[in-house]
Amino acid sequence: MTAESATSPGVLIVEDDPQIARALLVNLKARGYRTHHAATGRQALQLAAHEHPDVVLLDLGLPDLEGREVIEGIRGWSTVPIIVVSARHESQSKVDALDRGADDFITKPFAMDELLARLRAALRRAQPDPGHAVVDTVDGRLHIDLAAHALTVAGTPVRLTRLEWRLLEVLARNPHRLISRTELLTTVWGPQYGEEANYLRVYISQLRAKLEPEPSSPRYIHTELGMGYRFTP
Ligand code: CA
Repeated sequence: MTAESATSPGVLIVEDDPQIARALLVNLKARGYRTHHAATGRQALQLAAHEHPDVVLLDLGLPDLEGREVIEGIRGWSTVPIIVVSARHESQSKVDALDRGADDFITKPFAMDELLARLRAALRRAQPDPGHAVVDTVDGRLHIDLAAHALTVAGTPVRLTRLEWRLLEVLARNPHRLISRTELLTTVWGPQYGEEANYLRVYISQLRAKLEPEPSSPRYIHTELGMGYRFTP
């Protein structure tokens, strides 16, 4: 039943819990991914170097190394997407992991469908399509033409300020990805603005007022509390 081949994307699963590791291995293999499994941080670093996976799923609570040590070890030479898998109480470690170069996180217990969606999103980002300048939301309500700087909401053109555009552009070019506050601030405002979380709150709420059917319960621009934002097209 496996459709695995040499060209299938390779996933390195770093997980010391045998049951979770097995569930991931079975599900990913069934969907045609090549899989490698490491139960310790050291093994993870070795396998990452030898197998060159296309994406890494990294449990933060490992028996030998801290999750951040594994991230730093991989980031020393590779830009492979790293999705951190962590327990709910580890929110500080999650922020730390993102700061050190992880791309996304998912909280245990997770739904397999959500994990697979994150995995696909990470793989898509790793091979970006430069011609993809138009984003349509699944519900057909938003049409964002990034090249022309033209936005229509339910068929009506909507004007955005320059900063609103830049913010929407970063979000829309990274669908489903958690973008940290620091990344948004430094990309949109500049490197010296990394701490100005209040700017971001103001502009996100302006954007939501223009885009969202119900700005108080957002459909497209989601807040990840204490971390950043995620755009769901
Ligand atoms: Ca663990």
